[in-house]
Amino acid sequence: MANIPKKLSQINLLTFAVNIVFQLRSHLRAKRMKKFIIVVHGGAGRIRPESREKALRGVKKAAKTGFDVLRKGGSALDAVEEAVKIMEDDPTFNAGIGSTLTIDGKIEMDASIMDGKTLNAGSVAMITNIKHPVTLARIVMEETDHVLVAGKFVEKLAEKFNLEKCNPVTEHRLKIWKEYKAMLIKGEYQYLPKTTSLIKLLPELADTVGAVARDQDGNLAAATSTGGLTLKLPGRIGDTPLIGCGNYADNEAGAASATGIGEVAIRLVLAKTVCDFMRNGLTAQKAVEKGIELVKTRQNNLPMGIIAVDKYGNPGISHNSESLSWAMVTSDSSKVIAGLKYPP
Ligand code: ASP
Repeated sequence: MANIPKKLSQINLLTFAVNIVFQLRSHLRAKRMKKFIIVVHGGAGRIRPESREKALRGVKKAAKTGFDVLRKGGSALDAVEEAVKIMEDDPTFNAGIGSTLTIDGKIEMDASIMDGKTLNAGSVAMITNIKHPVTLARIVMEETDHVLVAGKFVEKLAEKFNLEKCNPVTEHRLKIWKEYKAMLIKGEYQYLPKTTSLIKLLPELADTVGAVARDQDGNLAAATSTGGLTLKLPGRIGDTPLIGCGNYADNEAGAASATGIGEVAIRLVLAKTVCDFMRNGLTAQKAVEKGIELVKTRQNNLPMGIIAVDKYGNPGISHNSESLSWAMVTSDSSKVIAGLKYPP
């Protein structure tokens, strides 16, 4: 019997040693090969049958655009920004053009970007008319002393930097908004139980994109952009612009982008939590799975998705939502692979 603890500690030591060897080998291999990778998502929201093909095409185009930046030696930061811009331009996704509407039918977009090399980050919230909120987030990161700026002033800043304007409202999004608002009024909209009671007091009141990448120099970056949650209250800011909640990157750990009910990602500080799992030695895939496990056990299994890359350039994708459109390209094969669920 006395031998059992000794045996256990031997096993622990062996597991520890195997882990170190595995990490060392991954590290050397990644360095030697200058492995680069981009993973994108088009949100954890339900994808209607008529939008499936478009969503798949959209995430593939975004991953390919970001990968081309990396292939030419560009930075992970440029790659995630370019990939997210492609999805902001695509009305299929709830970001940029095609963003979802607040309970009073307005546009309030959020976006963020983070550089894993320096831990510099920028984010914007409550943006109403800018075509590429992710680029505005980058301007906040590079041209201001702040991390998060919301509202009218930052739109003025966008003008000074000649960012394109647009009206992000689409017919498709208006149709969804009307359907959901009718459900909310009848008390049938499950994700906003308190808003259902609130609209009795205020009767006038009713899919995100992300990218993570590792470049040829081993730098990591993450970017996320969203119209937010359909029927959100005016002024509600979600997880996307909150660094660590919807978006995080650290060269010493990994990069992650989350989607789903923003309040869940805020309560779990989900993107940073997943990065810390990678910091402590988990691969990107194990880390995102553990993140979704937390959503199941601590947040009532509300629908979420998360993508990641670890510092060795391994991808991770996990979700408990019905679908998650995603795509990735790695320097191992240069082929775009994509799906509407993971594993496909
Ligand atoms: N996480 C976003 C938010 O709550 C929504 C989404 O991912 O679709 O603002």
